[in-house]
Amino acid sequence: MLIVAAIAALVGFVSGRSIIAISDAHRMDRPDRWITPMCDQCGGPLGVLTTQCRTNRHPQRRWNLVVMVVNTVLMVVMVGVVPSLWLWPAYAVFTAAMVLLTVTDLDTKLIPNRMLGPSLALGGALLGIGWLFDTSAGSPLRALGGAAGYFAAMYLLAILARGGLGFGDVKLAALIGLFTGFLSWEAVLIAGIGSFLIGGVTSIVLLVFRIRGRKDAIPFGPFMTVAAIVSVLWWQEIAAWYTG
Ligand SMILES: [Zn+2]
Repeated sequence: MLIVAAIAALVGFVSGRSIIAISDAHRMDRPDRWITPMCDQCGGPLGVLTTQCRTNRHPQRRWNLVVMVVNTVLMVVMVGVVPSLWLWPAYAVFTAAMVLLTVTDLDTKLIPNRMLGPSLALGGALLGIGWLFDTSAGSPLRALGGAAGYFAAMYLLAILARGGLGFGDVKLAALIGLFTGFLSWEAVLIAGIGSFLIGGVTSIVLLVFRIRGRKDAIPFGPFMTVAAIVSVLWWQEIAAWYTG
């Protein structure tokens, strides 16, 4: 188990660097820079912790370090949460996708198809393969149901909200529904309802402390990704607490 956790930490660290590179490439519209993170100013490679560039020590966004730490910690924690270790690769891809899409949505207020598509394809394939190794863990059929259900619910809301919700959020719901649905129906509900609870509380805090004005658009994707991670980690505890 300790070896698995160490591997998870290493994968989390390396993929954390890729997340920074991919989100930077998108944010700066430099698709050629998506493999390794580069300096904003001189284009040189970044140091291990990605907070400064290796050649000229130009300072980078401190945010990079947060992204790396969060991604690494989540991937290690996933080792203890997945219903079977065969499913860890799938949930590692899911975790990386959630971190990447959170960063990208905060930066650019977009959830790009070229990030969602590969996440769905690779994550979904690994979910299916992992399940073949241990068919008692989770349900691929319920995963598809969760993806369709959460997608449909958000699609309806997007139509009713008339522009308040982007179509990127609707497509993100399919990815989250797939991975929470694989675990249980409760997990899908917790991810969906949780996003509105977290979004509501955060909006009130931002308004009360005047961090954001009433007319500023707040991207909804990050609330969905945070609720999704919370659901994957603690859906059993939350469901048990709710049913009392
Ligand atoms: Zn530099």
